[in-house]
Amino acid sequence: LPVVAIVGRPNVGKSALVNRILGRREAVVEDTPGVTRDRVSYKGEWNDRRFTLVDTGGWEPDAKGIDASVAAQAEVAIDLSDVVLFVVDSRVGATSTDEQVVRMLRKSGKPVFLLANKVDDARQEPEAAALWSLGLGEPYPVSALHGRGVADMLDAVLKKLPLISAVAKEEVGGPRRVAILGRPNVGKSSLLNKSAGEERVVVNELAGTTRDPVDEQVELGGKIWRFVDTAGIRRRVHLSQGADFYASLRTSTALEKAEVAIVVIDVSEKISEQDVRIIDLVLESGRALVLAFNKWDLLDDDRRRYLEREIEQDLAHVAWAPRVNISARTGRHLEKLVPALELALESWDTRIATGKFNAFLAELTAAHPHPVRGGKQPRILFGTQVSSRPPTFVLFTTGFLDPGYRRYIQRRLREIYGFAGTPIFVNMRVRE
Ligand code: GDP
Repeated sequence: LPVVAIVGRPNVGKSALVNRILGRREAVVEDTPGVTRDRVSYKGEWNDRRFTLVDTGGWEPDAKGIDASVAAQAEVAIDLSDVVLFVVDSRVGATSTDEQVVRMLRKSGKPVFLLANKVDDARQEPEAAALWSLGLGEPYPVSALHGRGVADMLDAVLKKLPLISAVAKEEVGGPRRVAILGRPNVGKSSLLNKSAGEERVVVNELAGTTRDPVDEQVELGGKIWRFVDTAGIRRRVHLSQGADFYASLRTSTALEKAEVAIVVIDVSEKISEQDVRIIDLVLESGRALVLAFNKWDLLDDDRRRYLEREIEQDLAHVAWAPRVNISARTGRHLEKLVPALELALESWDTRIATGKFNAFLAELTAAHPHPVRGGKQPRILFGTQVSSRPPTFVLFTTGFLDPGYRRYIQRRLREIYGFAGTPIFVNMRVRE
């Protein structure tokens, strides 16, 4: 989906605008500065067009260093988006921070909409008009809180929005798109540098493709791979607060573009909630998954025993993901990433013919019928794989299947077909 990012100083009304665009009724919840939020991107929809809305309002800088952090926030969001909504408080007018952001926006060449917020009625429109001086073209007077002007603004935004994200519409058969994800300091940029090494391929013109400047093409194992959103890895945002916020912002948006994610885990530290959260975002996004256990050179016998226990406890739900134990520092086993990526993508692409799938279902139900519930036994009438990438199945049934039984089906699917490295979805349609 195309990405719309909302950028602006603290308190200009970004959160209110996000709520307004998403049509959420609830009051704006104030976010505590520096607090990690799981989500920074949302699925938005307007006039039947769907897009991803990236909310950069979840993290507000502290009083010191506002300029630097707003600028950094804007820079990240601009990189990642197809269209930027730049919000200014029309009652305050343009500040020097705003002007700084404007320079960045103009350099980026991305379509920018200047929103003059807090124009609650027509009498305030002259204040909005004053923002012409920012040189971003016509300001859109809006009231995020009351909704005034928001519909017109969104209509205009849709006209500038590519049908699909610039990167997502890449040719089938082009380089496969890989996101390197993980908490700060697990070794993402080390991994990227070491893999890319001397072999980094600079491809300027690829027939029929638009290359995103924040991506890098790298030759690994004799094939070209596209590492998406590498600018987000290379740019070190040195901020006392908000590192987690950037990490989750980058995770969500990189996943939009990627087909497969390498989640990097630092084996010298305990597997954390944040590691698990990042993995769960991959699962939710339906992308293929490879786990890279990095800093293997730091592992001693003691830590190794704990690590195995942690993997069993915290990562049991992704036991199907290929694992590679690497050291980005020494280069250990980096070459094993390629077969792992290939395996995960092959699973992700898998299609099972309907005939075969129904034979599988018949065998499965014969071996282990659904338990009788309230005198009835739900039956599976028919099933089909409705899509790949990731494999998604629909079962037509005569009643709801127990969660335990659905897990059994998933387990059997993995036993028979493997699906190493890909989430699979099994949905039901109940026919009365
Ligand atoms: P990022 O924030 O995930 O991009 O992490 P970096 O790549 O910047 O790495 C964070 C720190 O871990 C740096 O000091 C790296 O030198 C170090 N590091 C990365 N990979 C390894 C590794 O395999 N072994 C060791 N010992 N240190 C590593």
